[in-house]
Amino acid sequence: MDFAFTDTQNELAERVGKFAQARIAPHTRQSDARGSYRPGLLAELGAEGLFALRVPREYGGRELDTVSTGIALAELAAADLSVCFPVLNAALVGGVLAANGTPAQLAEWLPPIASGQAIVALALTEPTHGTDAANIEMRAEPDGDGWVLTGEKTSIMAAVYATHALVFARTGEAGAHGVTAFYVHLDAAHVEREQLTDLGCRSGGRGRLVFDGLPVGTRDVVGAPGRGFVEVMRGFAVSRAYISLMAVAVGRAALDEAIGHAGRREAFGQPIGRFQSVAFPLVEHATMLHAARLVSYEALCVADAGGDPRLPANMAKWWAPKAAVEAVHQALLTFGHLGWTEEGPIAQRLRDVIGLQLADGTAAATKLTVARKLLGRHAAP
Ligand SMILES: Cc1cc2nc3c(=O)[nH]c(=O)nc-3n(C[C@H](O)[C@H](O)[C@H](O)COP(=O)(O)OP(=O)(O)OC[C@H]3O[C@@H](n4cnc5c(N)ncnc54)[C@H](O)[C@@H]3O)c2cc1C
Repeated sequence: MDFAFTDTQNELAERVGKFAQARIAPHTRQSDARGSYRPGLLAELGAEGLFALRVPREYGGRELDTVSTGIALAELAAADLSVCFPVLNAALVGGVLAANGTPAQLAEWLPPIASGQAIVALALTEPTHGTDAANIEMRAEPDGDGWVLTGEKTSIMAAVYATHALVFARTGEAGAHGVTAFYVHLDAAHVEREQLTDLGCRSGGRGRLVFDGLPVGTRDVVGAPGRGFVEVMRGFAVSRAYISLMAVAVGRAALDEAIGHAGRREAFGQPIGRFQSVAFPLVEHATMLHAARLVSYEALCVADAGGDPRLPANMAKWWAPKAAVEAVHQALLTFGHLGWTEEGPIAQRLRDVIGLQLADGTAAATKLTVARKLLGRHAAP
């Protein structure tokens, strides 16, 4: 067992960390207040190769392992959680397309994702189907040799920035087996967008995508018709570990700020860190985040070794965002009234990180997966 990153992974962490602190962190508050990324940010992320992480080299990508991808996402999250989402989407969708596309599809789809010319969204959730995503209702109605997509997707991160989306729609019977995945260009003539007004991650562009008869053909199908949910979705198994690492990074950043404050702020003639009631909660949250980080990386290590990451990834996903929310909350209390104001970084981190308790499945959804693995389907909820 080896808990160390490789030299290459450490270099990646250093490089992305420096970029994030120089080019993202100084703009975090303004982007949040404006509800959008600063102009030019997406192009800079592309130039840094951050959309190319999981795209194979032959299509212009960096073909990194999932551990390295988690490292890069964590560095971005520490600077501004909102910035992670288009990078996360490119890693997930790029990886899924690479695993399921034909050579002709990959040659067309992947180079623009790697370069950042194509910004991708993952469009699964609908107004009436989130946790029960297998029952989505968006229709792909037969039309000549192809289909037309009609219906609404909502809560789609980066919806306002995306040029393309991996869209799940119903081509057949009820339930998971009637769902097909399509990789589509979000043509303004057939797709309306609306940004949602959120508690946190306000510059991340979460929104609604309303499809009004978008024509799609067999060349847009990812995998096979009817296999979108049962096969293509399998490629997203590591997503929950990535999101857990993003949550841990937000929690750690807030704790670091609180630890610094505990050494500087004096009360009753001494640094507040000398009070056990200040220091010990920080120790407890640092411990929880450390452990949550290890479970998350364990999931990615398993995936990189060709194994099934679902058990540790789902354990991480119910726990890490909760641990992060609690850690940021404690950091806020450590700052006293200085933590309560939007003038400091902690309030925004708290608003932002709560979203990760919902994104890609609630704690209940992930515990269901863990329960089925631990207890067996016959004995689990
Ligand atoms: C920040 C953020 C980013 C997101 N990004 C995307 C994205 O890019 N693309 C996308 O498609 N979606 C995205 N989502 C949507 C997200 O995947 C859903 O919010 C999530 O799957 C939960 O679905 P829901 O919100 O419809 O809640 P519901 O399914 O309505 O659940 C409501 C409550 O009931 C509980 N519940 C539901 N079913 C069960 C059950 N069987 N057992 C026990 N409890 C249950 C849930 O835990 C929850 O507490 C995002 C959401 C957020 C907040």
